This record gives sequence, C-alpha cells and structure tokens, in this order.
Amino acid sequence: MTLRDQRTKDGARLLSGLDCSAAIKAELELELDALSAAGKPVPQLVVVRVGADPASASYVKSKRKAAAAVGIRTEEYHLDASITPGDLTALIDRLNADDDVDGILLQLPLPSHLDDKLFLNQIRPDKDVDGFHPMNMGHMLTGSNPLLLPCTPRGIMELMTRYGVTFSGKKAVVIGRSNIVGKPVAVLLTQANATVTLCHSRTASLEAEVRGADLLIAAVGVPHLVKGEWLKEGAVVVDAGINRLESGKLVGDVDFDAAQAHASAITPVPGGVGPMTVTMLILQTLIAAKARRNL
Ligand code: NDP
Repeated sequence: MTLRDQRTKDGARLLSGLDCSAAIKAELELELDALSAAGKPVPQLVVVRVGADPASASYVKSKRKAAAAVGIRTEEYHLDASITPGDLTALIDRLNADDDVDGILLQLPLPSHLDDKLFLNQIRPDKDVDGFHPMNMGHMLTGSNPLLLPCTPRGIMELMTRYGVTFSGKKAVVIGRSNIVGKPVAVLLTQANATVTLCHSRTASLEAEVRGADLLIAAVGVPHLVKGEWLKEGAVVVDAGINRLESGKLVGDVDFDAAQAHASAITPVPGGVGPMTVTMLILQTLIAAKARRNL
C-alpha cells in the first residue's frame, strides 16, 4: 500500500507511524482472515501484568485492542503486586507449555521484588513476541535473522523502509543505548549497511555527532534535547522519545518545529514510533504462531 505524502509546514516528509501502522494492520487482517478461512487456529497473545501501575494498564489495554482489531485473540493475566517469584514462574511455565498460546508479553516494569530480566529470560524464545529474550537478541546481533526482534527497533526500521528511506552507505547516529531501543536499532542499522555512531550521556559532543548524521534516531527521554540547527540539511529524523511536559503536552527528544525546517523526513510525536511498536507486537504474534504451528 502506498503511504500518503504528508508534509510538515516547511516541506519535510512526515513519517507517519499511524498511516504506516494502518497499512500493516490491513495486511495482517487479510492474512488472518485467510488463515481463518482455511480453518487454521486463530493466534493468541497472552499479556501478563503485575500490580496496578496506571501507565502499564493503559499500554496493555491499547495492545490488546490493537490485536483484537486485526483478529488476534488476547487474554490478560492481571496479578497482584504481592505475587511471589515462584507463582510468577509457575504462570510463565504454564503459558510456555500451553500449545494454544502463541505470544507471551510480560508487561514491564515489574514490582521491585521481581527481577525483570529473570522473568523475561524464562519466556520461551519462540513465544517471545516482545523480542527481549537473550537468544533472540543474540541471533539479532550475529545477523542470523531471528523471527522475533525488539518491537520498537523493528518498528523504526519498518517505518523508514516503507517510506523509502535507504540505509546503505548512510551515516546513522543513534542517541540512547538502552537494550530495548538504542542498542538494537544500532545493530539493525549496521546490518542494513549504514555506518552507525551510538551516542549516550557520556558522548563528548553530541551536537558534533548529530551534525554528521544522514539518519538520526533519538531514543533518550529528554524533551527537545536535539536542536533543529544541529541537523545536517536533508537528514532523516526518527524520534522515539515520549516525554510529557508539565503542560500535559507530549513531545519527543527532538525539537520538532525547528527540526522539520532542516530535515527531509521526520516522525511526529505522538503518532510516529509509538504506534509502530504496538503494530510490531501484533505482527510478531502472527509470525510466532505461523512458525511454531507451521501455519
Ligand atoms: P533509557 O532511559 O533506558 O535510556 C536512555 C538513553 O539515553 C541512555 O542510553 C542514556 O545514556 C541516554 N541519554 C540520557 N541523557 C542523555 C543526554 N543528555 N545525551 C545523550 N544521551 C543521553 O530509555 P529507553 O531507551 O527505554 O527510552 C528512551 C525514550 O524512548 C523514552 O522517552 C521512552 O519513553 C521512549 N520509548 C518509546 C517507545 C515507543 O514505542 N515509542 C518504546 C520505548 C521507549 P546512558 O546509557 O549513558 O545513561
């Protein structure tokens, strides 16, 4: 599906995660309809949420809604914050063994007495639809094309690719080195033949690094850290940052208004990377179901 050509006020191409997600979801819906018409099982995503964090509740709600909208079954286990490590382990073991469960999503953060990593590592790699299991991460790093990747980095690559952004020979700068966004996106860009610089809080001159970037990926969590005048003319800018200002407004890590005057293409916040992350989760549930059940 061709994506609409939307422009910012100074003419940069808007990389709309909403439009791109809608196109991908339409494709997924067709595929799921075809599976169902052929009498195949409907893929199922199970979400495990622990405690009463309101942000987690809202993320889980939107993920389940998006999955249901394309025809994926979802189930949620909402556990009390006081659950013991043993009981959480027992639930994950049960879901790992359940042939009817295709994807297991453990909503983070967990309460402080539960070690996120320990439980993520317990999810079967072929049901790890968030893509955080070390086995999937390791295959990503060695370039052996795992089926399941971390969702935000996959969404960032998919968004740029569908808008016709090319990577080979480009200088890419990634700001942020977390395991869920910055590091994996740097790996994926490297595999796509970009030359990648990975920046973080100890980078000596962030501005100088950004000035050389053909592609800039910001995943920091600091509102408007990247100034418009830092950008190389014509740079492609992808902003994964989600920051809420005191006014309640959501903004990214890049000063969008100033940046769009220099960029050739740029993601909005909200409506850029965020929707792609959720869509990749749905895509990976279908990928996991097809691979494991031989559909
Ligand atoms: P983390 O806090 O785990 O990592 C932030 C990274 O930014 C760290 O590597 C840190 O460096 C670096 N950093 C912090 N301050 C600076 C600075 N002044 N200059 C350069 N680098 C800096 O965050 P996440 O990766 O989890 O998330 C990043 C942003 O992306 C957040 O706004 C988050 O909300 C958003 N996000 C959005 C998603 C989506 O779907 N759109 C999904 C996941 C996250 P160091 O390592 O040295 O501390």
